[in-house]
Amino acid sequence: MSALKKSPRSHLQIVTATETPAPVMRLAFEAQAPQALRLRESTAAERIALIKKLRTAMLARREEFYVAFAQDMRKSKAEVEGAEFMPVLDEMRHAIGSLKRWMKPQSVTPVITSVGSKAQIQMQPRGRVLIIAPWNYPLNQCFCPLISAIAAGNTVILKPSEMTPTVSKLMGVIIAEVFDATQVAYFEGGQATSTALLALPFDHIFFTGSPAVGKLVMAAAAKHLTSITLELGGKSPTIVDETADTKLAAENLIWGKFINSGQTCIAPDHIYVHAKVKAKFIKACQAALTKYYGAPAKRMSNADLTHIVNTRHTQRLSDLLSDAQKRGARIIVGGQVDIAECMVAPTLLDGVNADMRIMQEEIFGPVLPIVEFSDINKVIAQINANPKPLALYVYSSNEARAAQIIAQTSSGGACVNQCMMHNVQGNLPFGGVNNSGIGSTHGYHGFKAFSHERSVLTAGRLRLEKLFAPPYTAMRFKLIKQIVDTMRLPAL
Ligand code: NAD
Repeated sequence: MSALKKSPRSHLQIVTATETPAPVMRLAFEAQAPQALRLRESTAAERIALIKKLRTAMLARREEFYVAFAQDMRKSKAEVEGAEFMPVLDEMRHAIGSLKRWMKPQSVTPVITSVGSKAQIQMQPRGRVLIIAPWNYPLNQCFCPLISAIAAGNTVILKPSEMTPTVSKLMGVIIAEVFDATQVAYFEGGQATSTALLALPFDHIFFTGSPAVGKLVMAAAAKHLTSITLELGGKSPTIVDETADTKLAAENLIWGKFINSGQTCIAPDHIYVHAKVKAKFIKACQAALTKYYGAPAKRMSNADLTHIVNTRHTQRLSDLLSDAQKRGARIIVGGQVDIAECMVAPTLLDGVNADMRIMQEEIFGPVLPIVEFSDINKVIAQINANPKPLALYVYSSNEARAAQIIAQTSSGGACVNQCMMHNVQGNLPFGGVNNSGIGSTHGYHGFKAFSHERSVLTAGRLRLEKLFAPPYTAMRFKLIKQIVDTMRLPAL
């Protein structure tokens, strides 16, 4: 066990990050330039060896991570295992097992105009990349993109969130153990560090965080025409229709909402429930809360509930609740807030409306508004009137209805009779759409995000362009026209 001790109250303070001086980061960025060129020719075996080294170093500090997570946000060991280590290990396993195949140039079939030549897509590293991460799943959100970036052959500058300093420190120790700084450099800090990094001409920026900061990242990237992946957030709606299995839906949604105390980008934000099953569903939600977290009176001290990351966010949630109550919302269960302890009881809210801040802002905490509906078309219209969410969940026994809801709405990802699990299906692209993000990650999609898909055409003996060269005699014109006319033939 390391020197990291569980200090029970240290997480309660808003952390003032020690910012890294801009010149230090510029030097590190410049030092990565030769390595980025060398990595263009690195093999799958070299990249896999680094990922394995990272895995060994991370697992060697498993116990220290338990302590660090407890210190920063009182995350239980079970959630550290299931929501931090598991996705990272799975991302590693996926890359280790598939990288050789992902790196193989893909030949594409010829089209009429390329007959006689060979055409390939070659996955080339983007070069020097920047990864900026949030605090809610700090290890997962730092290491998963790092694995994809390494798999794709890039150098990386990684900046974790300033809000989980103990976990960030530990990750920094591991990065320094595993990587030479010319391949992966790690800088802690907050807004100033981020802003200074964003001024550098990276080849790609992978940002995970809020839509508001995502816009700043995109504007900074535009200065250098740097490509970006933005993994953002938003209000992910859930629909429970009148045909749904209410017990299954409630147990699944209460799990999805309250794991990490709702501080999950794809947590069900609010639930539209059909009037016919609303009472039954609420009862099932109450039963699920008791099953997972015991009697209401004991929930504020339940060790399985992660705390809110700091007092500022606890106050934000308290303000959202007060605003909703002032405007007529009713607390079904929960509602207790302890700012000093960074704790909010699992809360179900009824009687919410669109004027309340809680229905306008991403909640990102353990408060679940339940909205009654009787016309599914109105719910679809409401979802379509809002910014496109990161996820959307439908609970229904009517397959056609579920398919209709998915077809008539848009979101980064979606699940039917399930929530959040699309995130751990490593063969699905994970990401948002417009306000909830740009681009995607995980498995091959993560490798692709950090690669440039380079088109390489190698000429053969037959050279079609000769037919298109001047002088444009009448004969030549007739020939060109005949070739152009072949474009009307059906595709092969
Ligand atoms: P945030 O946007 O406040 O911060 C993210 C990162 O940006 C941090 O490293 C922070 O230091 C940095 N940052 C903050 N302000 C900045 C500024 N003005 N300029 C430059 N950099 C700045 O987000 P957060 O509070 O850390 O995380 C919560 C948000 O992240 C939620 O919206 C959540 O939905 C989203 N999120 C999305 C995903 C996903 O995969 N799509 C995953 C986790 C979290």
